[in-house]
Amino acid sequence: MTDILISEVGPRDGLQSIDRIMPLEAKKRWIAAEAAAGVSEIEVGSFVPPALLPQMADTAELVEFANTIEGLTVVTLVPNAKGMQRAADAGVQSVSIPFSMSETHSVKNVRKDHPAMLEEIAAAAAIAKEHDIHFVVGLATAFGCTIEGAVDPANVARLAEKAVAAGAQEIGLSDTTGYADPAQVRRLVKQVKSAVGDEMVTTLHLHNTRGLGLANVVAGLEEGITTFDSSLGGLGGCPFAPGASGNIVTEDLVLMLNSMGLNTGIDLEKLLQVRPILEEALPGEPLYGFTPDAGPMLDYDQRVAA
Ligand code: ZN
Repeated sequence: MTDILISEVGPRDGLQSIDRIMPLEAKKRWIAAEAAAGVSEIEVGSFVPPALLPQMADTAELVEFANTIEGLTVVTLVPNAKGMQRAADAGVQSVSIPFSMSETHSVKNVRKDHPAMLEEIAAAAAIAKEHDIHFVVGLATAFGCTIEGAVDPANVARLAEKAVAAGAQEIGLSDTTGYADPAQVRRLVKQVKSAVGDEMVTTLHLHNTRGLGLANVVAGLEEGITTFDSSLGGLGGCPFAPGASGNIVTEDLVLMLNSMGLNTGIDLEKLLQVRPILEEALPGEPLYGFTPDAGPMLDYDQRVAA
């Protein structure tokens, strides 16, 4: 049994933020290789209009392919109820919808203020329920916004309550802009948990924009967070939050958790062999992380025996 679930979001968050389109066959190789390394949840794409994000145009085909991999939870992102219906038609098991805590960002990103977005969440939740799909509302820009600046944590807690009332089965906290620090992670997780219940808040979506990603993971662990989104090679960012780039790096996250004695179910040596698929499919694209260069180190059993 795994202690910590690592949800690979590179095929969605990573690929949507770069201009080049990864060929479908390369995406399939990437997903299959990560699953073979023990990654048990992968966000394979998003159901946004292809005209807006051509990188994600093959999401339905990827869902169909990923569903054939035994033991893999297939996740997609959807921006609205229309995308939710496409996700349901494609047969996804879990869906996440971003709900930006910065109303300015929300209007700019999806042209919806908070009341309109809550209506959209309710409509999407109804479709998820009908199709028995796990439905996560990810609170985007929860730690700060490049446009609005500081985001009031009391408002985040209040909007989390409204999202639950609208049908969210789980609330995720997303550091879309890479503004979070470890003390803030502890405060906000506590505050949102006290608003909607401990069991509702299990996931952190972190970016490593300013190098605080893994420190924020440890802060999350201390508050009982059990799922972390990350991207192989740190590929990624948010095209709607200028300056934001790079999810936390899956390879480094696995190294840290494994060395702490936490079971991720992921074989690091096998995971490190996935990176060449990205290098080959996206030549010249920046990839991040320390572990791919430095290599693995002592695992927990070797450490505590020493
Ligand atoms: Zn992100």
